[in-house]
Amino acid sequence: MPIRDPVLVNIVSKRVLDKMVCRKCGALNPPNATKCRRCGSKSLRPKKKKLGMKKG
Ligand SMILES: [Zn+2]
Repeated sequence: MPIRDPVLVNIVSKRVLDKMVCRKCGALNPPNATKCRRCGSKSLRPKKKKLGMKKG
């Protein structure tokens, strides 16, 4: 079921992008995670995409 409400789309896209990705195993973790739930590594990077940063 597609989401048409622009407010909901904004919230959902933020929730989808706002995650931490483990640099070791690549697992997705909650945005407030301090270590990977799969391998326990503390090397996490944010999975936030920057919009409107295209170089041209
Ligand atoms: Zn990991």
